[in-house]
Amino acid sequence: TEACLTQIEGAGALNAFVHHTPDLAREQARAADLRIKAGDAPSMCGIPLGIKDLFCTKGIPSQAASRILEGFKPEYESTVTQNLFDAGSVMLGKLNMDEFAMGSSNETSVYGDVINPWRRGNDDTALTPGGSSGGSASAVAADLCLAATGTDTGGSIRQPAAFVGITGIKPTYGRVSRWGVVAFASSLDQAGPMTKSVRDAAIMLGAMSSHDPKDSTSADIPVPDFEAALTGDVRGKVIGIPKEYRMDGMPQEIEKLWQDGTAMLKEAGAEIRDISLPHTKYALPAYYVIAPAEASSNLARYDGVRYGLRAKLDHGDGITEMYEKTRAQGFGPEVQRRVMIGTYVLSAGFYDAYYNRARKVRALIKRDFEQAFAAGVDAILTPATPSAAFGLGEMAEADPVQMYLNDVFTVTVNLAGLPGIAVPSGLDKKGLPLGLQLIGRPWEEGDLLNTAYALE
Ligand code: GLN
Repeated sequence: TEACLTQIEGAGALNAFVHHTPDLAREQARAADLRIKAGDAPSMCGIPLGIKDLFCTKGIPSQAASRILEGFKPEYESTVTQNLFDAGSVMLGKLNMDEFAMGSSNETSVYGDVINPWRRGNDDTALTPGGSSGGSASAVAADLCLAATGTDTGGSIRQPAAFVGITGIKPTYGRVSRWGVVAFASSLDQAGPMTKSVRDAAIMLGAMSSHDPKDSTSADIPVPDFEAALTGDVRGKVIGIPKEYRMDGMPQEIEKLWQDGTAMLKEAGAEIRDISLPHTKYALPAYYVIAPAEASSNLARYDGVRYGLRAKLDHGDGITEMYEKTRAQGFGPEVQRRVMIGTYVLSAGFYDAYYNRARKVRALIKRDFEQAFAAGVDAILTPATPSAAFGLGEMAEADPVQMYLNDVFTVTVNLAGLPGIAVPSGLDKKGLPLGLQLIGRPWEEGDLLNTAYALE
C-alpha cells in the first residue's frame, strides 16, 4: 500500500486517479495486516486496488466523471466494493473514466484525459489508454495499484485492457451485482477486474461475484473457485474462429496476432474450428440504439433535485428551466448526444423502427452464439480491438461514429450476455501492446480463464 501511494504521487501526469483515499487505505491495510497475523487472511487480503469512479463508495466522492454529480457522496457502498472490502482489499482512491462510461478513449471525462503509460517507440505523442475504464487501465499498467475495478457495457474493460497490455474480464451478465454501480445501460452493464495476470483476474473475480437480492438481475448461482480452474490444460477444447470478425481492411498486425494466438492454442492441444456468427455485422448498430435508449432512461434521474449539481437559476425560472439548465451544464457533449439518440429511438413514432428492431437483432446475435456453443465450441477467439492505442485527439471529435467503430469486436459479447476476456498477446511494430479476446459459454468463466491462461 505504501509503495502504491508513493507511486501514485509521482504519476499525477497520467491523470488516472481523480480522488485519493490514503487514510482509508492505510486503515484498511493495517486491518489486513492483523488478519494475516491472526492466520485469517481472505483472498484479497491487503491488496491495494483502484476503484473506477462509476462505483458508489460510501462517503467518498463518486461522480461517474460527470459534472452533474459534482459534490455527490453516496450514503451507501456498492455491493462489488463491499465484497472486495470483505475479502480484505485496500482502496487507494477513485479512478478516472469516460463520463457515465460513455466512450472508448477516456476523452469525455470532466476530469480530463487519461494518459496511457505506453509510447509509440521514440515518438512521445500522448496515447489514449482506451475507455471507458481508462483510469483503471492506466493505473494498473503504471503500477499505481495491483489491480482495479472496471465496468463493461460494450467493451470498456476489454478494450482498455488491450490498449495497455493487461488482462480484463467481463463476466456473464448477472454474475456480479450492479447495485451501487451508476447505471449506463442496465441490460448490458457488468463490472469486472482489470489485472496484471489471468491468475489475479480469477482471484479478484471470485471476490467481486455474489448473488445480490438488491439487484434483480443478479443470478442465484454458486460462485466457483475460479483460480482452481487454472490448470493450463486445454487439450481437446474446441476453439471457434468466427469468419465475420475478419473485417475488410483489418491491419496486418491484428491479423497476425490472431493467427499467432490460434497457433498457440492449437499447439497446446486445442481443436481449432472455423465458425460463422452471421449477425455480427448488425451488432454495432443494435448496440448504439439499445445502449443510448437505456442510458436516456437511466439518466433521467439527474434533474438538479436529487444529486450533485443544480444550475444557477434566474429570477422567474421555474422547474422546467431548472431541469434544462442543470442538464445542459451538467452533462458533456457525448452524454447529451446519447440522451438525444436514446429519447428519439424510444419515442412513440420511432420505437418500432429502431428500438424494437434492435431488440430483435440482439436476439439473433445471441442465437448465433448459442448455436456455436451447441455445436461443441468451448470458446471463441477474436482480436480484442481493431488497432493498438491511438493518440489523444487523433479520433476526430467531429465524427463520433469513427469512435464507435472501435467497439466492433466487443459489443456482441454484451448483447449476448456472455463472458469475455482480453489477454495481452504481443506488441505491434511500434512497440504498443495488442490484446486477444476469448468469448466463453455463460457461467463458465473458470473455463474461459483457463483458456486465457494457456494464451498468457
Ligand atoms: N465504447 C462503448 C460506448 O461508448 C462502450 C462503453 C462501455 O463499455 N462502458 O458505449
